[in-house]
Amino acid sequence: MESAISTSKIKEDFLAAAEALESAYVVSLHLMRRKGLRLEFAAGRMIEGDGMLTGGHILDLDSQWAVKVMNWGLLSEKARRHIEASMQLLAIRYHQWTKEELVIALQKDDPCDIGQKADLLREAVCGNEVHRRGLIEFSNYCSRNCSYCGLRRDNRKLTRYRMTEEEIVESSRHAQKLGYRTVVLQSGEDGGLKTEDLCWIIEKIKNRTGLAVTLSVGEKTKEEYRQLKDAGADRYLMRFETSNKALYERLKPGASFGRRLQCLTELRELGYQVGSGCMVGMPGQTLGDLADDLLLMKKLDLDMVGVGPFIPHPETPLKDETQGDFQLTLKFLALVRLVTQNTHIPATTALGSIHPFGRQMALQRGANVIMPNVTPPKYRKFYEIYPNKICITEKPSDCAGCVGSMIHSLGRKIASGPGDSLKVLPAAKD
Ligand code: SAH
Repeated sequence: MESAISTSKIKEDFLAAAEALESAYVVSLHLMRRKGLRLEFAAGRMIEGDGMLTGGHILDLDSQWAVKVMNWGLLSEKARRHIEASMQLLAIRYHQWTKEELVIALQKDDPCDIGQKADLLREAVCGNEVHRRGLIEFSNYCSRNCSYCGLRRDNRKLTRYRMTEEEIVESSRHAQKLGYRTVVLQSGEDGGLKTEDLCWIIEKIKNRTGLAVTLSVGEKTKEEYRQLKDAGADRYLMRFETSNKALYERLKPGASFGRRLQCLTELRELGYQVGSGCMVGMPGQTLGDLADDLLLMKKLDLDMVGVGPFIPHPETPLKDETQGDFQLTLKFLALVRLVTQNTHIPATTALGSIHPFGRQMALQRGANVIMPNVTPPKYRKFYEIYPNKICITEKPSDCAGCVGSMIHSLGRKIASGPGDSLKVLPAAKD
């Protein structure tokens, strides 16, 4: 059987972690590899007296690896917890998830265990800072007819709006005044807004505020993505929605799953920081599909990953379907952290809309980003991608206050930097 933990770096990282613990406590740690029922020494600082490695306390990392701790009996409870957490982190970092394991994890009824591991990893890779991205929902016009989304073309009951260029720039200035370092410009696939106009808006925002600009405006040609990038856009969010091609094409009539993935590749080639993600609990979606979603996120090597529950909208063909399960979505989000590791993960508004503490719980299970709404109040209720969306009566400053207290109440800090990708970004290829 293939080792669940990759061997190349584990010894090196084990030795670094062990050295820190050995200088803090009177203890020696040895990485052991399982050989049948036996444990074989793999790495560690052999010191006189424990050459035989008899006795010692065994910490299981996974089916292949364990750690033997000498002098465990002499350690304080606090020291033991510290050593356990540090070794658990090593196991989490090197675990290579298989589809089968992910399906089992999604079935298992212990959201806390996966969530606690995700929280540990989040702290190690992102620290305690939470990034705020000010969300401007600038147009709800959409030429698509996605069967899950309230903005779909055929929803004639929706009052359509498009913010003016001045309003969008003004909202960005407001975001800046509230201390945010990023604005996310999101809309339906609005054919009425020319790419050159969007470029002009991006240039204005960059000139006036210097904020990082993230776009979430759907599928465009590579040439358009290039123009938007040249205008100053830094990042792009576009969920693949589901990795199941047949399901995707059923839910998005006329759309091609291949094209969606190609867009993500083109965005990466152009040097954008790229975000994607999916919905959890769409009709017809299986746990196997969700496991594939996680593996696809890993394969795409994303900088940001957003996930949320599917929420049926009354003016869509899926109006009578069941909402995505809250606990399953939370567990899925924790797995997003465990599988993708060094990504920015938002505690999404959709999670907050189906549970009063949805966003707080997400921040405690792997998420490190929140997206407070900065859309002018008069437009908010019309950006109804799903019903009962939170924050539709609030003002931008209300959301800033609410999100700030949320972050502090969890013992976390408001991030000071712009929150760029946690990865080393390759230069644009194209
Ligand atoms: N037009 C852009 C932005 C879409 S809205 C684009 O195509 O990328 C942002 C996200 O809201 C979508 O990607 C989808 O995952 C989510 N969404 C849409 N309808 C939803 C629903 N009914 N329930 C939950 N999330 C929904």
